[in-house]
Amino acid sequence: MNPKEIATPYTTAQIFNIIRQNGEINRMGITEISGVSKSTISHQINKLLKLGFIEEKAPLDSSQRKLKLKIRGEIGHVAGIFLGTTKLTIIIFTLDMRIVAEKNYFLDSISEPESCNREIIKQLKTLCQAQHIDSLWGIGIGFPFPVNFREGKPDSPPNVPLWHGYPLKQLYEQEFGCPVLVDNDVNVMALGEGYMGCTQNEPNFLFIKVGTGIGAGLIVDGIIYRGANGCAGDIGHIAVDGSSVQCHCGNRGCLEAVAGGKALAAKAEQKAASGESPFLAARLKANGHLKAVDINDGAIEGDLTCIQLIKDAGHAIGEVSAKLVNFFNPSSIVVGGGLSGFGNLFIGAIRESVIRRSLHLATYELNVCISELKQKSGPTGAGTLILDHIFSSEEFSTTLERLPFTTPHSSANSVQI
Ligand SMILES: [Zn+2]
Repeated sequence: MNPKEIATPYTTAQIFNIIRQNGEINRMGITEISGVSKSTISHQINKLLKLGFIEEKAPLDSSQRKLKLKIRGEIGHVAGIFLGTTKLTIIIFTLDMRIVAEKNYFLDSISEPESCNREIIKQLKTLCQAQHIDSLWGIGIGFPFPVNFREGKPDSPPNVPLWHGYPLKQLYEQEFGCPVLVDNDVNVMALGEGYMGCTQNEPNFLFIKVGTGIGAGLIVDGIIYRGANGCAGDIGHIAVDGSSVQCHCGNRGCLEAVAGGKALAAKAEQKAASGESPFLAARLKANGHLKAVDINDGAIEGDLTCIQLIKDAGHAIGEVSAKLVNFFNPSSIVVGGGLSGFGNLFIGAIRESVIRRSLHLATYELNVCISELKQKSGPTGAGTLILDHIFSSEEFSTTLERLPFTTPHSSANSVQI
């Protein structure tokens, strides 16, 4: 036997995931990626064809004679749920991540977990019924607070204390009878961007969400890095050099207290009150308060104070990002969240600080960009999270056993994996 085959015994799940990640691929392509023999690949592919998980189709280009393999995405569905401060997005995907249904909802408040989750469950069931979907293969959820990933429970969420320890995973598993994974919003956004956004096929990158708070998702070797206790990427409380501004966490100079949405709105109100910015003063007088969007509008109008506020925030984020770049050496930094709407002015300031403060080798090919998926990165990542789980080598057999589907080819139970 080929020694490489012994060292890397490709399972049916791994072959399936190569096909899944490549969209359409011929047998030769799978052999090249996996590095195992044609006969082993052929054996695994025949299993998958018999199960009805994949199909072979003729290539569109008649000059390519080899049959292409693709997964039969339509045989099942998963849901990606993403909750912002008040906005809920639910997307139902096929197994190859095509969108079957998408809906956005506004919730009055998310402070009380019981009523909030009952509403989300009701909306997901309604969406499934409308699409004649009897059962889901899995549900991925992204919520805007720290989550104990293993247990699927929020952990000490700062603004919604009633959610602490609320059994989210258990509740959704009971309601829908399928596997459920719950993670924090930034991690699922990073996964979404890596799956079909601007960092597709990049195994090491950093996703920074800049909204009211600031957090990062770290993709390392193609998977999310959660750290020992699941709170890796909490960069909002890294100190910015020379700042002593008070943060709600009790420390001073935290990035979130310098460049988060709430901090910027407060600074804008100070600038308006001091008469430094006529634009902001007029907005404050009209609305009684200022938001990040007012700063953006002012910058578009050419208000120098607004432009400087955006640049300063970008430089602060860039300064902290440079520390991460020196430590982690990502190929890209993707910036998402509400404040990424500041656009090129903001991204340019982040890029400038990162390059100025990082090692040359680490920034030689570093890409700093705005999230391509924007609002879709969260629900897309939630869908990816659960699909990666149910089709992992560890869960693949269980996924087959759990599912009552029959295919035109055979019964799932008749094939041993
Ligand atoms: Zn802090």
